[in-house]
Amino acid sequence: MTAETNVLVTGGAGYIGSHAVLALLDAGKRPVVIDNLVTGFRWAIPENVTFYEGNVADADLVARIIREERIDAIMHFAGSIIVPESVENPLKYYGNNTAASRSLIESALTNGVRHFIFSSTAATYGIPESSPVREGMPTLPINPYGMSKLMTEYMLRDVAAAHDFNYCALRYFNVAGADPSARSGQSTAGATHLIKVAVEAALGKRDSVAIFGTDYATADGTGVRDYIHVSDLAAAHVIALDALLTDPASSHILNCGYGHGYSVLEVLDAVDRVTNQMLDRKIEGRRAGDPDELISDNRAIKSRFGWQPRFDNLDTIVAHALQWERKLSR
Ligand code: UDP
Repeated sequence: MTAETNVLVTGGAGYIGSHAVLALLDAGKRPVVIDNLVTGFRWAIPENVTFYEGNVADADLVARIIREERIDAIMHFAGSIIVPESVENPLKYYGNNTAASRSLIESALTNGVRHFIFSSTAATYGIPESSPVREGMPTLPINPYGMSKLMTEYMLRDVAAAHDFNYCALRYFNVAGADPSARSGQSTAGATHLIKVAVEAALGKRDSVAIFGTDYATADGTGVRDYIHVSDLAAAHVIALDALLTDPASSHILNCGYGHGYSVLEVLDAVDRVTNQMLDRKIEGRRAGDPDELISDNRAIKSRFGWQPRFDNLDTIVAHALQWERKLSR
């Protein structure tokens, strides 16, 4: 019998982290969660999962967890994720993301954890020179959020070169949707992401949905993004974990997206289709820093890991987001 794989999931009470916990459980692994519950929710962690409330930069706590729980690998989701806030308060991002990650990576090294999966972002590319975006393209973040994540990628690269340690940085495109069985979903109040905002509006939690710009260089003039279902993204982390365990000499930086995109209008049309209603739409000006189009080239994750999306369908993503939003309102 092979020993169980114990995985420390930082930020496991948050949106993506909680779906990773479910994916790990579904795959027969043993997740252990650390979360400071600043933005996460205690109830998002299943009852049978061991939970520690605290910060990933608390080296004593992390050392104790690694030892007591016999941690084999770390999946690192904890961090701050609001782009405009990162522009106003960059040091919060270099603290919570870059410095906290440095501490966590050091705790991993000191305490014998040799595998690290990192929640990175397409924001590391900035405004890409062309689309779809390949992993080898220049990384020129246009905000401190993207830079704080890119700096963590650099630390992981250098640590993997210097020590017996491997990592996978997954660069997420636009994450949306919710667990198909509604075990978790996006629960943060005051959300700004399009699909979350649109399903809130569909349920009457908002009066309308703003369309930020209709003069982009896209087919219908609205911004195009590569929306990936959170459960497909979570599954990619489990595959990455297996790849790191199987081949300790290899590390990876991989895009996570479907390789095609939808415009804002196409997303709103999908919400109308799924709800059989008409959202009230308000055309507004462009939001600062929004590129016309952001689409992943996902050939690397497919060929290296054999990752195959299960929910590559906009209506499915919307339906799952809506199902979760209804559950949240009860
Ligand atoms: N967007 C919009 N109205 C909203 C929120 C977003 O028109 O209320 C647009 C935004 O300009 C972008 C796309 O929807 O073109 C996705 O934005 P989101 O904030 O969801 O993710 P981002 O791509 O900024 O990470």
